[in-house]
Amino acid sequence: MAELHIREHMVALGASLFARGYSAGSGGNLSVRLDDGTFLTTPTNSCLGRLDAGRLSRIRLDGALVSGDSPTKESAFHLALYRAKPDCGAVVHLHSTYAVALSCLLGLDEQDVIRPFTPYYVMKIAPLPLLPYFKPGSPKLAELLEAKAPTAKCFLLANHGPVVTGKNLEDAVNVAEELEETARLVFLLHQGQGGVRHLSGAEIRELLPIH
Ligand code: ZN
Repeated sequence: MAELHIREHMVALGASLFARGYSAGSGGNLSVRLDDGTFLTTPTNSCLGRLDAGRLSRIRLDGALVSGDSPTKESAFHLALYRAKPDCGAVVHLHSTYAVALSCLLGLDEQDVIRPFTPYYVMKIAPLPLLPYFKPGSPKLAELLEAKAPTAKCFLLANHGPVVTGKNLEDAVNVAEELEETARLVFLLHQGQGGVRHLSGAEIRELLPIH
């Protein structure tokens, strides 16, 4: 995809996420790997609903700014994921309400936060490892994500929000939306009576590519 087209795609998908309440204020950020090995990221303090294609930050793998506005302070962990995942073409990080609420709960399974109850969670998201809390922008968060990157494509940052990798931006946005809706269902189901029927081990295995 030509760079101009990718820039316009970032603006359009950012606006779509914002319009539907997946991000608010200046929360959340997007990035895309370009063919020449540089990256486009959303600028620091930018609102996903009002991105400007001409002012997106273009950065190198070492974080150096090539052109555009200063990148999001969270670009360090985007770059860590690109370093660890050669097939990763885009990263979406949101502060979406239900996934953030889930990230604040005590007693979560750190290997996979959500016990599967829909096939879509198994096929598109799982596992969802929980990473411990660090101050936003902390280099420790980037280090930890780089180490954990080979184990999953989605991650939940404690008391912060979800990070989703994808082969391209549309793929990562779709999975980020699925993750937010699954987190919303976690809270809806826990308000019900009689508990949740989770998928059995056999039901989960038949959804996975190798079983
Ligand atoms: Zn964040």
